[in-house]
Amino acid sequence: MSKVYLLGAGPGDPGLLTLKARDILAAADIVVYDYLASPGLLQHCRDDAELIYVGKKGGEHTMSQTDINSLLVDKARAGWCVARLKGGDPYVFGRGAEEAEDLVAAGIDFEVVPGVTSAVAAPAYAGIPLTHRLYSSSVTFITGHEDPNKEKSAHNWPALANSASTLVFFMGVKNLSSITGNLLQAGMDAQTPAALVRWGTTCQQQTLTAHVKDIASKAREAGFQAPALLIVGQVVGLRDTLSWFEHKPLLGRGVVVTRAREQASALLQLLETHGACCFEFPTISISGLDDTQGIDKAVELLSHYDWCIFTSVNGVKHFWSVLEKKSLDARALGRARVGAIGPATAQALVDRGIRPDVVPDKYVAESVVHSLVQAGVQGKKVLIPRAEKAREILPQELVRAGAEVDVVPVYRTELAEQSGEDILQAMQDGRIHYVTFTSSSTVDNFFQLIAPEKLQPHVQEQVRLACIGPITARTLQGYGFTAHIQPGEYTIPALARALAEDAGSC
Ligand code: SAH
Repeated sequence: MSKVYLLGAGPGDPGLLTLKARDILAAADIVVYDYLASPGLLQHCRDDAELIYVGKKGGEHTMSQTDINSLLVDKARAGWCVARLKGGDPYVFGRGAEEAEDLVAAGIDFEVVPGVTSAVAAPAYAGIPLTHRLYSSSVTFITGHEDPNKEKSAHNWPALANSASTLVFFMGVKNLSSITGNLLQAGMDAQTPAALVRWGTTCQQQTLTAHVKDIASKAREAGFQAPALLIVGQVVGLRDTLSWFEHKPLLGRGVVVTRAREQASALLQLLETHGACCFEFPTISISGLDDTQGIDKAVELLSHYDWCIFTSVNGVKHFWSVLEKKSLDARALGRARVGAIGPATAQALVDRGIRPDVVPDKYVAESVVHSLVQAGVQGKKVLIPRAEKAREILPQELVRAGAEVDVVPVYRTELAEQSGEDILQAMQDGRIHYVTFTSSSTVDNFFQLIAPEKLQPHVQEQVRLACIGPITARTLQGYGFTAHIQPGEYTIPALARALAEDAGSC
């Protein structure tokens, strides 16, 4: 159905998108987005959706507003469902009204989905409530984009300066000294607190505070840049008590996640809740096998096994896709007892209706062996569905303990096809502070993509290396690097916590 939706993308934190906007994004044929809409939101789009970037970054417009309006009209006329994703709220200094007017003139059906405007969200994340019973009972949103040489300002400066309203200026960084000059000239108390919030609600949020008379010079000295909001009023003083987001230990810290894309989400999410700016750099790609003879046979003979041991979430996932292909389910495991190497693997089994009989206390192969030997494996038939290439210690030790072991590959891990240039560049720019390794293969593959000698200078200056456990750390040692961070428990949540603690103590 041809229609244009003007969607508020929210202020930057991708979690601040409305449910309605998310559902429309997921259905749209075409998504037209700009600079302030978080790139993370595009994950909600259909894989086959056409994504059109129309830019708009303080002056360097990739596409003019007239062209954007025509694009929306043309695409809708061609019969498509178009989502126009606009930073913050579409009708708050977003020129959304102009787009809507052109749609109406062209007779095109449209809807507006309001978004969380940066004017509300960025101050909230900076610890500044816009109203407070004691300090401010009104709020004014103002454009700071006015040409300072214009003969007559559209703003009533005396009214703004003397209103006791909280003032929120959009697009004001360039004109900061003329804005504050106008306020002071119109009679505002020079000691009125003011704040600039840059990239509010994102991992790059920065806040600068000063009295209104000093904020322009302080911003100039600090090289403070757009996009930012200027907030003026007594409520800014509450930031001293109400600041919270900027206390997150990893805020503004760049963290590289080297896990395979399919596996990275839990770690990414945890790091982001601690404030990190994550760089996804999947070093591994995971795929099913072309030749499934081995696993097919094992599944046919499943009732012969006494134990089935899973060593990774992927092992569980791919084993289950084999079952599903054969129209089988968890019951196929029959009488076999089930072991899982760690809590994530155990959870993947629980999600599929199996409560594992054995999960060791420490999450490495050596501990699984110990737990299994205790559970009694002598003379038992054990199936291990796992990656094509994996450590041999588990099957070897089980055989030593008297078990009859069948190792059957169910998936393959390969070196991801990609270049390390962007990550190296980010390191050179000082945007990366941590690299995380969650398995020996992430270490090996990382150094295939980025030669160890290229990493060396950054590790000495600013980058710290984090390994999930001792085996991964040993592999890293093989390349001449010592892990700076290694959690006591070998899990993803513990790794994320260890990074947060490290950042908190630096
Ligand atoms: N429709 C948008 C505003 C677009 S005008 C909204 O409702 O938020 C663009 C200006 O908005 C920027 O110059 C900046 O002043 C402000 N802005 C947008 N996102 C911001 C953010 N995350 N942090 C600080 N200011 C932001």
